[in-house]
Amino acid sequence: MAGETSSSASAVAVSALTEEELTLNVKWSGKEYTVRVCGDDTVGELKRRICEVTKVLPKRQKLLYPKVGSKLADDSLLLSQIPLKSSLKMTMIGTVEDDIIVDPMESPEIVDDFEIGQDEVVDIKDKDMNKQKLNRRIKQYKIELRNPCRQGKKLLVLDIDYTLFDHRSTAENPLELMRPYLHEFLATAYAEYDIMIWSATSMKWVELKMGQLGVLDHPDYKITALLDHMAMITVQSDTRGVFDCKPLGLIWAHFPEFYSAKNTIMFDDLRRNFVMNPQNGLTIKPFKRCHANRESDQELVKLTKYLLAIARLDDISTLDHKNWESFANVKRRRHD
Ligand SMILES: [Mg+2]
Repeated sequence: MAGETSSSASAVAVSALTEEELTLNVKWSGKEYTVRVCGDDTVGELKRRICEVTKVLPKRQKLLYPKVGSKLADDSLLLSQIPLKSSLKMTMIGTVEDDIIVDPMESPEIVDDFEIGQDEVVDIKDKDMNKQKLNRRIKQYKIELRNPCRQGKKLLVLDIDYTLFDHRSTAENPLELMRPYLHEFLATAYAEYDIMIWSATSMKWVELKMGQLGVLDHPDYKITALLDHMAMITVQSDTRGVFDCKPLGLIWAHFPEFYSAKNTIMFDDLRRNFVMNPQNGLTIKPFKRCHANRESDQELVKLTKYLLAIARLDDISTLDHKNWESFANVKRRRHD
């Protein structure tokens, strides 16, 4: 145990420079955009972040920065190996794709989920470096309430892509890409839960997608808040490298009188997004190939039952959400 403490202390010292977050100003097409990166991110990661705010695909971006030569052409290079300063502007040259239904990101590693070992999850959650990143994010990120938090309600946090919406299939109308029973699910959940939507894309996209699906002005439920990729933090895993996650602590810190680890549940198709709060995440089966699966997908119907079944519990973080399907079935049998 003593050895573990000293090794983590030296790891902090060594990685302090590389894990430090950096805010960069990127000029593109006459406008300026802000992106948040850290030294352990690669150039490829930086391009994805720029893509999130500009919609220019990483493969179409050319980045220019004073005195770094052609380094920014190498996607695998770590940003800590490039002398970047917040005070200098980066210029991006590239053309945006104009199809707004198709997801702008083309990075398979973002789509494929990976399992992180239980020990490592605990390690990531408890790392001082990650707690500091979360604290910085709490100070930086403003959550704008679209509707007031309601006393006595639990909190349901929902991912968008592959959770509520098949963002990789194409359709004439975005409604065709919506997960079946979405509005029924939200309307029923709303009786017991405030609802926030948190997507790893930009706020512009979150509002666009949710607006197109009719989620933002539905008569039967209200959305409490929307969160975007800027609310996420980048953490490092020993086995999986650097990745982004959605720390619920950010929401709890902003609304401590309403929400906590005890009354919050988040649905996401990517388990790694829960890494800072593993007891609050439920990994939903991804909704993909919607044209083939629209008729058969019942996930939201089944999850509605689970949400209602657990709503009466004081502390839902003691549940193992991996077993949600059997929990809902047990409850139903008891009622029969
Ligand atoms: Mg997703």
